[in-house]
Amino acid sequence: MTIYTGPVFEMAKRQFETIADRIDIPLDERDRLLYPKRAVAVSCPIHRDDGSTAVFQGYRVQHHLTLGPTKGGTRFSAKLDIGEVAALAIWMSWKCALTGLPYGGAKGGVTVDPPSLSRRELEALSRRYMQEMIPFVGPHTDIMAPDMGTDEQVMAWFMDTYSAIQGHMVSEIVTGKPVANGGTVGRREATGRGVVHLVMRVADRLGIKTSGASAIVQGFGNVGGVAAHELARRGVRVTGVSDHTAAYYDPRGLDVAALEAHVRVHRTLAGFSSEALADPATLLTQPCDILVPAALERVIDGAIASRLNCRILAEAANGPTTPDADIVLEDRGDIVTIPDILCNSGGVIVSYFEWVQDLQQLFWEEDEVQRRLERILDRAFNQVEARVAADGLSHRMAALAIGVGKVRDGKRMRGLFP
Ligand code: NAD
Repeated sequence: MTIYTGPVFEMAKRQFETIADRIDIPLDERDRLLYPKRAVAVSCPIHRDDGSTAVFQGYRVQHHLTLGPTKGGTRFSAKLDIGEVAALAIWMSWKCALTGLPYGGAKGGVTVDPPSLSRRELEALSRRYMQEMIPFVGPHTDIMAPDMGTDEQVMAWFMDTYSAIQGHMVSEIVTGKPVANGGTVGRREATGRGVVHLVMRVADRLGIKTSGASAIVQGFGNVGGVAAHELARRGVRVTGVSDHTAAYYDPRGLDVAALEAHVRVHRTLAGFSSEALADPATLLTQPCDILVPAALERVIDGAIASRLNCRILAEAANGPTTPDADIVLEDRGDIVTIPDILCNSGGVIVSYFEWVQDLQQLFWEEDEVQRRLERILDRAFNQVEARVAADGLSHRMAALAIGVGKVRDGKRMRGLFP
């Protein structure tokens, strides 16, 4: 019996079982590696603007403490449940281990549709959630960050609430804060920039020239918006984009700067253009060189995988490709997947830089952040490529083999506690 259920958790579990079989992890070590160390569920009451009271369910899952404190984002989403949070915490663990960061994975969130809240209600909910979490988090136990539905402002409210209770500013309790509140330059852009850095490494290897290449990006938030911007900046033709309100496709290329300007004003892509409007259901299967799912989990299933028309699948989102789709992609063999735990790791890498800078109160210039980010991404990418070549694994299995293997080694040396 486990409290962790649902399709996203089942997917993380199936990936783990597959890699555990591939790298011969003994059966009696598997539950300790897979199941989270701790999970907390809280009720977060707030006063609504109309005077009524509403209660929202919040969660925090800390996967393991073997390699350091836990670290992970906070998701505000209407469909969130503890199984999804646990899956995201597990993926964070493999990601941090793969990239050599001194963290275990964590994830948290609140089941709420953020656009349904006024700004005052969002602030009340953010502060209440952090207040409920104070006994369970800390700069050396569990450090929060943004994820879907949360942003720099929410992180500033989290940090302020935690600091007010401690009686002094504790900027290192969250990352992804505004620079004015102890955040680091380059954090907001880090995930999207990391995605594009890795896409360029693969494109280079495949002999794809950026000037003639095309890309489709699903999701136009923090990650997808920056990824589209960085691709366009390098001369890639961004032919398709979508968010939860609209999808656009134009084989001649969309004006990414105009899309960004539209989203700055209207917050979503809806209403950008009536000519380029596209069917969101078929956007992912349009022809392109680079496909970047940067929104939700499980958007590429087996059926969609068989119809993909790209050469590079850059998983900017967490868990966009199901295990059934992985089987199809392995059989096809014509698409290079940059797996999520590598592809979107730029976010947690620069979050780590932010935490280090906050602890030292010594802040770096943006070029140093970018240089160090690329160095860590390149190291992880090279290790994955070497493992693919040595063991004949897919890129996902190679990345998981490294991440899971490092956590297993840490547990073996330390004993049962963490
Ligand atoms: P965000 O809230 O800033 O943006 C999410 C985007 O996805 C929005 O544009 C939203 O409209 C879009 N979207 C939602 N449902 C959609 C649908 N059905 N079809 C198309 N688009 C849809 O979130 P984000 O921070 O950009 O995160 C996106 C993904 O990247 C998530 O999987 C997240 O876990 C992952 N990720 C984020 C970070 C980070 O630093 N923010 C780091 C690593 C991974």
